[in-house]
Amino acid sequence: MSRVHDLLVLGSGVAGLTTALRAAREGMTVMVVTKGELAQTATRYAQGGVAAALAPPDSPDLHLADTLIAGVGLCDPDAVGVLVSEGPARVRELARLGARFDAAPEEIESDEIAETDDAWLLAREGGHSLARVVHAGGDATGAEIERALVAAVQQSAVIDVLEHAFVLELLVERGRCGGAIVLGADGLPANLRAHDTVLATGGAGQCFAVTTNPRLSTGDGIALALRSGVACADLEFVQFHPTALHVDAMPRPLLSEALRGDGAILRDDLGRPFMQGVHPLADLAPRDVVSRTIAQVMRERGIDHVWLDATMIDDFAKRFPTIWSACTRNGLDPTRDELPVAPAAHYLCGGVVIDLDGATTLPHLWACGETACSGVHGANRLASNSLLDGLVFGTRVVEAIGAQVEHASETGPMRGVLEIAGDAREADTIVPTSDGAPVDAAALRSAVQRVMARDAGVVRDGTGLGLAAQTLADLAALRNGLALRDRDAREAANVLDVARAIVDGATAREESRGAHTRTDWPQSRDDQLGRWVHGADGLAFVPLAAVGAPAGAGRRRGGGR
Ligand SMILES: Cc1cc2nc3c(=O)[nH]c(=O)nc-3n(C[C@H](O)[C@H](O)[C@H](O)COP(=O)(O)OP(=O)(O)OC[C@H]3O[C@@H](n4cnc5c(N)ncnc54)[C@H](O)[C@@H]3O)c2cc1C
Repeated sequence: MSRVHDLLVLGSGVAGLTTALRAAREGMTVMVVTKGELAQTATRYAQGGVAAALAPPDSPDLHLADTLIAGVGLCDPDAVGVLVSEGPARVRELARLGARFDAAPEEIESDEIAETDDAWLLAREGGHSLARVVHAGGDATGAEIERALVAAVQQSAVIDVLEHAFVLELLVERGRCGGAIVLGADGLPANLRAHDTVLATGGAGQCFAVTTNPRLSTGDGIALALRSGVACADLEFVQFHPTALHVDAMPRPLLSEALRGDGAILRDDLGRPFMQGVHPLADLAPRDVVSRTIAQVMRERGIDHVWLDATMIDDFAKRFPTIWSACTRNGLDPTRDELPVAPAAHYLCGGVVIDLDGATTLPHLWACGETACSGVHGANRLASNSLLDGLVFGTRVVEAIGAQVEHASETGPMRGVLEIAGDAREADTIVPTSDGAPVDAAALRSAVQRVMARDAGVVRDGTGLGLAAQTLADLAALRNGLALRDRDAREAANVLDVARAIVDGATAREESRGAHTRTDWPQSRDDQLGRWVHGADGLAFVPLAAVGAPAGAGRRRGGGR
């Protein structure tokens, strides 16, 4: 434990393991810390695939254009440029590492796996102007990617792995990150020291009562960053997936957009299709539009879900094996039954602000994957861009460390952020902890989840957000009883801290844009075209127009906490 590694990687999903493998290749000593087993990640749940412009008629420019449209003005074009131009090489590397993507039927010979990209079967998803999504096992892409990455890490002689170890806080010393404080499987806290540390701890769907994210997606990395005063942004942009299977299971099984791509139709309780006329693409409208419409139908009809009619899809079990098994496990036969669905929290577009190299506002701390605000998703993620995000920025982090970069630069979404971020807080000053009265972690977590689902969900307004802020502040008082070694309580506290930041961002953003919908501010507003940044000194607005402007120009402070 006392060894100082070159690189400490927090998290073992696509972002963390990509970073670890690349660092090992560059000759760095690496430690991967993960709170479950190596393969326990959100990554392995990914269904649809990875978007990349692999060959004509597709091009990085087309992929860029689609991504910018989906992000509704808040993508950072430079960051998206990096994503789409470097993405194809990263996907090919993943295949060389051993990930086996599905082949087009004419390429299939002895088995259905393609070795080279010209043989890959490309799917088209919502928001993409042409087919560019590679997938594996039909709808089991994430499981295959995670399998390949885990196998490569396990074969590596230079990557140390610490499983069942929970990262409690960042080690902030003399204004830089020196590693992390970790609760080991033995229940004892320890300092893990490293020259550089990467946050790759995934998303925060567990802030909501209904989510597609696994139990581990508790926003820990974002909570650590917030407590240490490392800048985070765009947290109000929570993408809700419109069609999660409405069954008594958490996470909710996802019914991919690909079903609607194959003709599935949403119906209300009277069997009426309701997406026609709402959007030119009807059932295949962008996710935010479909989620909002479902929420409206549910409210108007007094129902808690709607139905997805996928009975017209041929070869369902073969084409969508993961979805098929989720349905049959719940007593549903998609070839005969209409499937109950409702929106569920799915993806956090914002996170810890990074520059184009993955550097955060704290020197020697880096971030990538869903934990990061890389600027590529803006107000709304384009489908299948997130696995790619982890692959691309995980790699860039290592390249920058290899090039001796120590500080963030004013690039990508970091522009305008460095000067308002404030000074990071040292680890021992940030969390009130005690070994006193234990908190009921499960009760705290589910209380937060209920508040968020009720007042900060698909459709928001100022009154509901105010109520949420007050209730979460009351719950925050309970944190004083948090036992240092109670992992569940610490996880619940992370859910609470991230939920409060989401509510603060959603309250400050007085407009509707992308995944953030407010009934009291139904239009997008030009003066909100920027990021709400959670820094060491609270919430501040960085207009996109401030990019390239003199330091301090055009910034304004928000309420925040
Ligand atoms: C059902 C579903 C379907 C999806 N489909 C797609 C798709 O088709 N295409 C696409 O691009 N994206 C998809 N996504 C999104 C995508 O899967 C995620 O955004 C991506 O996998 C996140 O990868 P990550 O490496 O950032 O985090 P994760 O894969 O979530 O990994 C996070 C890691 O951090 C660890 N960790 C967290 N907190 C701590 C802590 N305190 N201490 C120690 N370790 C910690 C976890 O144990 C885990 O190992 C889907 C997501 C879901 C849930």
